[in-house]
Amino acid sequence: MNNCIFCKIVRGDIPCFKIYEDEKAFAFLDISPLSKGHTLVIPKNHSENILDITEEDVCHLMKVIKKISSNIMNTYSPEGIVIRQNNGEKAGQSVFHTHFHIKPVYNGTTVVSEIDHRKEIPEEEMKNICKELSMLD
Ligand code: 5GP
Ligand code: ZN
Repeated sequence: MNNCIFCKIVRGDIPCFKIYEDEKAFAFLDISPLSKGHTLVIPKNHSENILDITEEDVCHLMKVIKKISSNIMNTYSPEGIVIRQNNGEKAGQSVFHTHFHIKPVYNGTTVVSEIDHRKEIPEEEMKNICKELSMLD
């Protein structure tokens, strides 16, 4: 995609701090990291998000994410690692080329908790939602 900033990074038109590359995937440091080692993992083929990425690309990215996470753990020994991927503007996506964030969490790293926003849904409504979303036969 001509105007996509991450496609430009893959092509080398825009510089980045690259940490991994293979035939299908590319990973580089986030320009505004939330913690030391915050990495973005993207497919080389342009897709916008989880809805249009190919199964092949997304499966491959998950393998790469695991490898990079292990490398971060071995190198920096964070307390934990958050994997995050936003789909759509309202969900926090600001760059519309599929990307997974790998965010190492250290002592003192901010992790936004959603615990106070969890809802209790009545059983009847849960049954309905289950029926509406069921992909079982
Ligand atoms: P999103 O908000 O879409 O989930 O994440 C986009 C991420 O891309 C942000 O964390 C932002 O800092 C990062 N980002 C945006 N532009 C660039 C860039 O030109 N280079 C790099 N390395 N990261 C970028
Ligand atoms: Zn792109």
